[in-house]
Amino acid sequence: MQTATTRFSQGADAHGQFGSFGGRFVAESLMPLILQLEQAFNTAMAEPDFLAELDRFQAEFVGRPSPLYFAERLTALYGGAKIYFKREELNHTGAHKINNCIGQILLARRMGKTRIIAETGAGMHGVATATVAARFGLQCVVYMGATDIERQRDNVARMRLLGAEIIPVTSGTGTLKDAMNEALRDWVTNIDNTFYLIGTVAGPHPYPTMVREFQAVIGRETRQQMLDREGRLPDSLVACIGGGSNAMGLFHAFLDDEAVRMIGVEAAGEGLASGKHAASLKGGFAGVLHGNRTYLLQDEDGQITDAHSISAGLDYPGIGPEHAWLHEQGRVEYTAIDDHQALAAFHTCCRQEGIIPALETAHALAEVARLAPQLPSDHLMVVCLSGRGDKDMPTVLRLMEEQA
Ligand SMILES: *Cc1c(COP(=O)(O)O)cnc(C)c1O
Repeated sequence: MQTATTRFSQGADAHGQFGSFGGRFVAESLMPLILQLEQAFNTAMAEPDFLAELDRFQAEFVGRPSPLYFAERLTALYGGAKIYFKREELNHTGAHKINNCIGQILLARRMGKTRIIAETGAGMHGVATATVAARFGLQCVVYMGATDIERQRDNVARMRLLGAEIIPVTSGTGTLKDAMNEALRDWVTNIDNTFYLIGTVAGPHPYPTMVREFQAVIGRETRQQMLDREGRLPDSLVACIGGGSNAMGLFHAFLDDEAVRMIGVEAAGEGLASGKHAASLKGGFAGVLHGNRTYLLQDEDGQITDAHSISAGLDYPGIGPEHAWLHEQGRVEYTAIDDHQALAAFHTCCRQEGIIPALETAHALAEVARLAPQLPSDHLMVVCLSGRGDKDMPTVLRLMEEQA
């Protein structure tokens, strides 16, 4: 637990480790690139010009600050905690992912890189990457599992409209983990001109820290907005977890405030016991993937297994190493919500608040439904509305037809 010398917000050590998690498990040939990136990131973050440019794009292109909204009818329905939404779904491209993409593309430009690569599973990170690449006129290549390309046609079309080239990955099961491997391979072979834009708080150091820093604007704004509105800090924070970037973004500004309770919500899919889930912390164990050591979904031989969830954006087979550490330290609580619970919370949010949330976000909302009724009316709870649900219409309509 926390000692006088440990602050939870301090993050990774000089080797990029969060306790025994994180680090950089990459091919020798990638090390110079990773070190160059770390240096460029640290330099940029200390330069007022870079930070001012980042602020300007967050304001004018992304649409920040996002509102902190009192969910009055949901609060009345659950009859407990006072529930606030941090409205990341109002950002350009409809989710929090663009916060990170803007930061990384500005860095890539400063480093003189001309080619952006990314991997995507559900396609949301691919769309956000293609968006910023178009804005800055950089070539964009997105690796995507062949199975995912079939499942996510709309997002594939969006990426192509924005000028990105999609490379289908047929190795393995043709899903996200295979696309990640291919992207890392591309990076090694195109060292000079290429920037690898990772979409969550995973990958080798400095990515988990870098992505967290670009997403931390969520928590910084929330803190100020709550102080302005209620005159004090929130009592609890709730966010869904795929790789964990919207959660780290919301949590980071509050990590050293001991009184603020934090809950990260993984996807339990068809149930933890079914083996068909995406809960790396609750249902996995530690190993190495994507250049870092963390909790992973894997079989007894250490083979990474595919994640399952009603929400394609939570299907990352690992979790960011900082979350693994915060879990071990007991600073953040982690829970899991299954497909049925998420879908119920999705419908409730639509009807009560007039907001169609992403199915990923609905996992956080289901945890709110579980917690809020047990808490007093002066308990201030903030849930990260990580994205909007327009992209999920085909899935939701199919499920409603099946149930009709
Ligand atoms: C991608 C995505 C997530 C999961 O990613 P994190 O890195 O865990 O935040 C959650 N919500 C939405 C709307 C997404 O698009």
